[in-house]
Amino acid sequence: MLEILENHPTVSLNTFRDQIIARFIIKSDSPENIADFITQKKLPYLIVGNGSNLLFTKDFEGILVIPHFFGKAVIDENDKVVLLKVGASENFDELVAYTVQQNWGGLENLSLIPGTIGAAPYQNIGAYGVEAKDRIFKVSVFDLKKKKSIDFSPEACEFSYRDSFFKHHPNRYLITSVTFLLTKQGYHQYNISYGNLQESKGNQPLNLEIIRNTVIQIRQSKLPDYRDLPNAGSFFKNPIIDETHFKSLHAAYPAMPIYPLSTGSYKISAAWLIDQCGFKGKVINGVIAYIKQPLVLCKINPEISGKNVLAYSEKIQEAVLKKFNIFLEREVAVY
Ligand code: FAD
Ligand code: NAP
Repeated sequence: MLEILENHPTVSLNTFRDQIIARFIIKSDSPENIADFITQKKLPYLIVGNGSNLLFTKDFEGILVIPHFFGKAVIDENDKVVLLKVGASENFDELVAYTVQQNWGGLENLSLIPGTIGAAPYQNIGAYGVEAKDRIFKVSVFDLKKKKSIDFSPEACEFSYRDSFFKHHPNRYLITSVTFLLTKQGYHQYNISYGNLQESKGNQPLNLEIIRNTVIQIRQSKLPDYRDLPNAGSFFKNPIIDETHFKSLHAAYPAMPIYPLSTGSYKISAAWLIDQCGFKGKVINGVIAYIKQPLVLCKINPEISGKNVLAYSEKIQEAVLKKFNIFLEREVAVY
């Protein structure tokens, strides 16, 4: 399929529901067609999945590329594991539901994360103690510059916390499919050590479905639905600080939640920092730091401009820097 739209007004391209006009939108199931269109137009371009990690603050004077790469297939299996190849445009949570149904383990902790398969390796999505990198066997891409297909091993993807090689080379590599390595019955490695997962699960038996349902129930109780309050999940990454900085902050704020890392550094809860600066539940120009999870910035309605969200986020960055000497790095990509 190939569809090209010009000067097209959009409201449904991202979960912030920003109302912008895109100079061009190309939707295609052919990486070659996409590459040719980009080369021919010589305009900036952006690959878009479900837009659940994107904020638009102005019209997009270039090409929004919406890949249509669907389908999934088992490409190899034995008694213990299965290799499942999935098209980049498939919905991530629908895939998690499917794998749990098949009793294939590995993705259940990542339940209810919005977005597409193709975006999962891009920022190495993670939740409840699991990251996409832990389950990825191969990422297949189309190099839009050299116009050729390449397979990336997990090592070549250079995954780290909410980061990857692709994030450092944005839009060059169009991810076309991701192959996951999943476990079969008897070989599952359940991970319920994170936060209140164990406690919320209660006395129910341990299986993939129970973990998925528990994660869904916790997420639904804490996170706003972007269809009611447009948002893109956590707006900032949790900052990582060194030992000296940690010691001085811990002395001043003994109640500060901290997560020591194996590297000797410390991960700090960005939500706690934001709360301490007085933003939790505070509305400024139609934007709110969600009361139950202030790391999630929401518009109170879709008509609010993306500019207001950016301005709110900058106020937070300023306040957190001033009070804690920590710069909160954005997780959401802003255009
Ligand atoms: P988009 O937002 O469309 O794109 C994100 C980035 O990926 C862009 O830079 C884009 O260019 C690039 N990209 C997308 N598709 C491709 C492709 N095929 N090839 C190359 N580059 C591509 N994230 C987490 O990690 N953990 C969570 O628990 C989590 N919870 C969330 C909860 C809510 C309510 C929301 C709204 C978001 C949450 N997120 C979370 C963020 C978001 O779901 C993820 O970043 C997701 O992977 C984005 O997918 P997408 O298809 O919407 O990507
Ligand atoms: P939470 O459980 O209240 O914890 C707050 C923060 O502390 C989390 O962001 C988490 O970092 C960190 N943390 C908590 N327990 C930890 C542990 N045992 N080891 C290391 N770090 C720990 O957070 P929440 O908001 O309800 O989110 C729950 C999970 O969903 C988290 O993994 C979070 O990342 C994920 N989530 C992500 C987004 C997004 O848009 N990126 C949105 C909603 C939820 P980590 O973020 O590194 O896990």
